[in-house]
Amino acid sequence: MSTFKDKTVIITGGAMGLGLATAKVLARKGANLSIIDYNEEALNKAKDEISKESPDTKILTIIADVSDEQAVKNYVNKTVDHFGKIDGFYNNAGIEGKQALIADYDVEMFKKVIDINLMGVYYGLKYVIPVMQKQGGGKIVNVASVGGIRGVLNEVPYVASKHAVSGMTKNAAIEYGKDNIFTNAIAPGAILTPMVASSFKQVNPDNPEAAEKEYSQRNPTRRLGKPEEVGNLVAFLLSDECQYVNGQTIAIDGGESNLY
Ligand code: NAD
Repeated sequence: MSTFKDKTVIITGGAMGLGLATAKVLARKGANLSIIDYNEEALNKAKDEISKESPDTKILTIIADVSDEQAVKNYVNKTVDHFGKIDGFYNNAGIEGKQALIADYDVEMFKKVIDINLMGVYYGLKYVIPVMQKQGGGKIVNVASVGGIRGVLNEVPYVASKHAVSGMTKNAAIEYGKDNIFTNAIAPGAILTPMVASSFKQVNPDNPEAAEKEYSQRNPTRRLGKPEEVGNLVAFLLSDECQYVNGQTIAIDGGESNLY
């Protein structure tokens, strides 16, 4: 089993969903965690949950909106002040936005999705990479989506932002591989988190369970993914066992992206 003893990992959007599930996996493997989120209540709850499960884990929580460049600079500096280094960076915070066709899409909502999903990931790279360069290396996992590989009906800014995440991942790989910094992305399919639950509510407000069931039938495995399955993949990509993988967007979707 890989160990993260004495390693520090930053997780953005760590208060819920895939961020929290990954935080729990990394805590079990001994990592020090710097957890970033803009939802203070959820962040405090997440810290309690992780501490209950893994009482020895050192956890720093920082309230920050990843679409605010100064707030990103601040969470990076605070993490280095507290733990001395950043070994892994899970650049995960993101939102889905509202669902509508391109011609009907609300421009302010489009900009909001881009600000969080694209600019937030970019600011994270901008401020974490110099720290990793200085310390001689590090591992980064950006969160794209199957929407970073193909189109998704009614989700144009989400798809645009996630294709951008996959593109920035390739650039980070070719620009900083020489510095022993490995950057990859994951492309989850539908994983049952609060974000996906609210998406099923948008599809069928009266019966979100029916929307979930129908969606699952399209997947080769006939089920949605579990947050912990994503956490295990991220932990591997951030671990010492993962070497020489750089600039890849790795789908974790039960094989669904092969259907399109
Ligand atoms: P979620 O809504 O369950 O959790 C997201 C977390 O990020 C929340 O704690 C939220 O408060 C935080 N967050 C959102 N915007 C933020 C901001 N601007 N600053 C700081 N924190 C912010 O979502 P999730 O399903 O866990 O998704 C996490 C990531 O995975 C997102 O980038 C999402 O696009 C991606 N993703 C999820 C799925 C899925 O099926 N769940 C599939 C593909 C990609």
